[in-house]
Amino acid sequence: MQRCISCILPVTFPGIEFNSSGVCSVCEKYKEQKAYLPSLQKLKVKLDKIINENRSTNTQYDALVAFSGGKDSTYLIYTLKKEYNLKILAFTFDNGFMPDHTFLNIKNVLEKLDVDHLILKPRYDIIKRIFSTSAEEDIFPTSLLKFGSSICISCIRMVTNLSLKTAIEKQIPMVMIGNSPGQFIQSENEIIYKDNRIPYGLKRRLFKPLADKISEDVYYYFLLDKEQYKTRPFPYTINPLPIIGYDESQIYKIMTKLGWKRPDDVDPNSSNCQLNALGIIKHQEKLNFHPYDYEMSMLVRLGIISRDEALRRVEDPTGQTADIAADISEKLS
Ligand SMILES: [Zn+2]
Repeated sequence: MQRCISCILPVTFPGIEFNSSGVCSVCEKYKEQKAYLPSLQKLKVKLDKIINENRSTNTQYDALVAFSGGKDSTYLIYTLKKEYNLKILAFTFDNGFMPDHTFLNIKNVLEKLDVDHLILKPRYDIIKRIFSTSAEEDIFPTSLLKFGSSICISCIRMVTNLSLKTAIEKQIPMVMIGNSPGQFIQSENEIIYKDNRIPYGLKRRLFKPLADKISEDVYYYFLLDKEQYKTRPFPYTINPLPIIGYDESQIYKIMTKLGWKRPDDVDPNSSNCQLNALGIIKHQEKLNFHPYDYEMSMLVRLGIISRDEALRRVEDPTGQTADIAADISEKLS
């Protein structure tokens, strides 16, 4: 398959074009945009200001951190606790497909860092239907699927929404999410925002296909209650990793210190979830590109990983992704 010689995006990526030397249009556009992007320094000032203004407005917690037990959210909790000295509530959305080893990692890390923890595991009947419907049916527009699988979009939406819902209920002023710098299309509004700026009706429409196929109950997991959107002050949703720095080898060093080990029964693109593998395989079958192509290409552009490493993750020569996907597909059926 033809791939960009600079990043890794394939010729099958929606809307992509290649110039005569084999460089893709996403790379070329990135080069042009770079000059206009908000500087990291400016974002760091903004982040520090928001943290300082919201620190201690709640007596128990300064921030709720969405904690999947993966390496990125583990690193995020570590940094917010050690460098920002925040009072943290770790919040785990258990999607039902996290390997046992992930729960051991969660226990090790949180005991070392002395952080309160809350787990929410939705009822199995609905979660199974949400994921099997996301896998099999056309639920989301291609404009979203360029950046991730349908299963991941559903899961991440539940994570961010239920984190925010919990923060509102507990009057916690900030929700912190550990997205990697590759998960952004690079605009300031994706890094620090308030989730009440998009009209309720518009959001509801995005998840309507899923609710129509399953049940109205789906909305509880994907949206706040209508009244909750009127909460004032409304909590911030913040993705600090692109701002505070993201060095994978440094992250793995800290993980080891915290007693965190990479589970061996997950695909190369996940460090905590088995469902991810099924998301990848279904996405490739339907759309003929890898749901991590964009994120990996972005990490290459940002100089965080090498092009070879990115290729290894999306081509998965071990075949592990397909094996895990087959197991999970059986569990969902
Ligand atoms: Zn490229």
